[in-house]
Amino acid sequence: MAISFDLAGKVALVTGANTGIGQAIAVALAGAGADVAVAGRSPADETLAHIAKAGRRAVGISADLSSIEPVERVIAETISALGRIDILVNNAGIIRRADLAEFSEADWDAVVDTNLKSLFFLSQAASRPMVAQGSGKIVNIASLLSFQGGIRVPSYAAAKSGVAGVTRAMANELAPQGVQVNAIAPGYIATNNTVALQADETRSRQILERIPTGRWGRPEDIAGAAVFLASSAADYVTGQILAVDGGWLAR
Ligand code: NAP
Repeated sequence: MAISFDLAGKVALVTGANTGIGQAIAVALAGAGADVAVAGRSPADETLAHIAKAGRRAVGISADLSSIEPVERVIAETISALGRIDILVNNAGIIRRADLAEFSEADWDAVVDTNLKSLFFLSQAASRPMVAQGSGKIVNIASLLSFQGGIRVPSYAAAKSGVAGVTRAMANELAPQGVQVNAIAPGYIATNNTVALQADETRSRQILERIPTGRWGRPEDIAGAAVFLASSAADYVTGQILAVDGGWLAR
């Protein structure tokens, strides 16, 4: 059997792809041959231009995923614009930092709603056409905090640990229907999400000292794992949380 990472003829939907990890994944999926829809609350013109430059069809969908209100529409718009949906990458996410004693209900709800609740219900909506066609790939963006507690980010740790659990739960149920569900746990990647950490000299140095590879990750470092999990090369991989972390968890 020939191993293939080719995504020609496939349609992918990536959330939160105007910047950072989502942008790198959307562009890499297009580079591997997929047509790509990107959904988010900010315009993703730069990402759409990169996808078009790769010779693939690109569609931007406006959606605020802090609630599940838009999830059915996002899937419907992807299918109406690009004909089908084969790959969903749940990447949109936020983080809120505060000491335990001061942590607010608003910061709890915002993070859990965006990072976990919307991820599940968007996956549910995408799974229907995937099950109907007998194939599909769902790739969730988890975190090192799917394995660890982190510092001053309790709602993020809860949500990302939940992402690991729901990845396995969905994988179990969808495997017999030909749909694989996996997650990528990025290490420390230089994006908007980690601006505060990068700016904190002490924390930034402590983080760097623990990364065996000796550097912070770049968004592009995550893209290869996404292409692999979206491709037929990963047809027998499901329910996994794949760390792409420069060796952090091995330490
Ligand atoms: P980022 O640059 O802040 O990207 C986050 C993306 O999510 C942006 O496109 C953002 O859109 C979008 N988003 C946030 N809230 C949204 C909402 N309510 N509706 C729709 N889209 C929304 O950070 P990133 O590092 O690339 O993060 C991408 C994913 O990787 C997140 O799930 C994050 O938790 C995860 N992750 C990051 C790291 C890291 O070290 N950077 C490590 C582990 C996991 P806006 O531009 O409009 O805000």
